[in-house]
Amino acid sequence: MRLIDIYEQLLHALGHQDWWPADTPFEVAVGAILTQQTRWNNVERAILDLKEHSLLEPEILAAADTDILEELVKCTGFYRQKARRLKNLASYFSRHEDTMWDMPVNVLRRELLELDGVGNETADSIILYAIGKPKFVIDAYTRRILGCLGLDGNYRILQQKFESELEPDVDLFKEYHALIVEYGKKYCTRHRCEDCVLLNNGKILI
Ligand code: SF4
Repeated sequence: MRLIDIYEQLLHALGHQDWWPADTPFEVAVGAILTQQTRWNNVERAILDLKEHSLLEPEILAAADTDILEELVKCTGFYRQKARRLKNLASYFSRHEDTMWDMPVNVLRRELLELDGVGNETADSIILYAIGKPKFVIDAYTRRILGCLGLDGNYRILQQKFESELEPDVDLFKEYHALIVEYGKKYCTRHRCEDCVLLNNGKILI
């Protein structure tokens, strides 16, 4: 079983996803914080509100009134925590706006991980979808799907598997992660295992 075959199978089943919907890289990064522990439609609402208040600029968001910011992101849950995290992230973006694009990925990743509320998945989502560098994002759906296929491991092990087996192609990584999430939502979460295109009665189909 090759990871590229799983990709082809998911692509055939679901079609192109074209993630991540956003007007700017910073908007992607904001979305990566807001999407923690909530549904995407709540994130969309908050992003729209932030846009209407002209807050989707790093410097402006970093200096935003905390009460106003909390109110605007309330619909995504954990709003106090998220408002604080957004301000920290915005401050990082405003300080490194000119240099972060050329930073070695491991340096950028290390720095992002030092920010409050930025774990592996959020850091890698920002690197891949906002900065456009080939870092494979692992999430709960990836672990679940690979687990069904007999591939277990922690974040680093699974990420290394993808990154060593696939070409370091940003578009491929983006599409692949999007397909995994979509498949997870449509099939795994709804327990549609009898319709699974990857497995049938425990037998791997690819
Ligand atoms: S649909 Fe079911 S069998 Fe298929 S990957 Fe998801 S959880 Fe596993």
